[in-house]
Amino acid sequence: MAKNKVNLYDLDLDELQNLLKQWGEPRYRADQIWVWLYKHLATEIAEMTSLPKALRAKLEAETTLEVPQVVAVQESIDGETRKDLLQFRDGEQVEVVLMRYIERRTACISTQIGCPLKCTFCATGQMGFRRNLTSGEIVAQALHFERELQAQDQRLTNIVLMGMGEPFYNYDATVAALRRLMHPDGLQMGQRRMTVSTAGIAPGIRQFADEDTQVNLAVSLHAATDDLRDELMPINRRYNLDALFLAVNEYIKKTNRQVTFEWVLIDEVNDTAEQAIALAARISGMLIHMNLIPLNPTMGFEGRPSSPERIEAFTDILTRRHIPFTLRLRRGTDISAGCGQLRAQASEKDSG
Ligand code: SAH
Repeated sequence: MAKNKVNLYDLDLDELQNLLKQWGEPRYRADQIWVWLYKHLATEIAEMTSLPKALRAKLEAETTLEVPQVVAVQESIDGETRKDLLQFRDGEQVEVVLMRYIERRTACISTQIGCPLKCTFCATGQMGFRRNLTSGEIVAQALHFERELQAQDQRLTNIVLMGMGEPFYNYDATVAALRRLMHPDGLQMGQRRMTVSTAGIAPGIRQFADEDTQVNLAVSLHAATDDLRDELMPINRRYNLDALFLAVNEYIKKTNRQVTFEWVLIDEVNDTAEQAIALAARISGMLIHMNLIPLNPTMGFEGRPSSPERIEAFTDILTRRHIPFTLRLRRGTDISAGCGQLRAQASEKDSG
């Protein structure tokens, strides 16, 4: 039925203009539709009342507006973090998280359903890979929260691609989504307020350096020796630390932009003095910032978050070696909305 219809969210502005041109419509109609999509955040073609009826009928016949359905909503006890379960037309679901800080409202969104990378400590890795999301499906996750915030006279201030999936294994859709979110006639999300996080796909990092955007890059490091990183992140067998650092250094040289390294602190696994010293040796002098996050426990992994004492010992070593770092608070863990926990409960239900 609607299978072959194009999802309007999947189109860039010039693609939308081309489509309308094929229909014999003037160019400004595409601009009008764009504004309905990304400024008024319309959820139905019928809302686009500035368009002639005939054009709306044509849009209804030829296109769809794939607004994912909200299946469940969970709010953390402190009210600062909220997790919504969104369902796409084929029944696949993603969880999206909204974090409210004093002056920031950050959406954490996904690029894939599941993930092929199988990082041992990550709930998404534990569930396996189902499919890529389209650019429109990635964009729609951000629009979901923007719509909600607009009703409260607020706006999303930041977007992080740190939900399910590996963005650089769905590269084209990810970059297209970022460009649509930053579009000056649309949502106008600040480029520096968006962050892509990769598990370390070296060719993807190189390609991203050539995109000429100001979007931030985060790299999940988690270990500073190949032995340990192989164990925690099987992708390290494909792109080991030397290969990864080669790509990151190229990225920094080309873009002159600071890279964030993420490090989930796992008790007595990667919070040792040996790892801290190896880490400092690798990154000393680089234009980077370390983000340290105590592990959020997941069903399929036995590791525990590091104790405060071990965190202090670890960070002392970094401080002495002048490595800049931030220790992140765990947020939303009471609703399994923490990093790497998305879909954890759904999987629990699956197996129960
Ligand atoms: N595939 C990308 C983006 C998704 S994961 C990547 O690996 O970067 C986003 C971040 O959450 C990554 O840094 C990931 O390592 C981290 N993460 C995964 N599971 C976690 C857990 N159980 N506790 C804390 N952080 C976790």
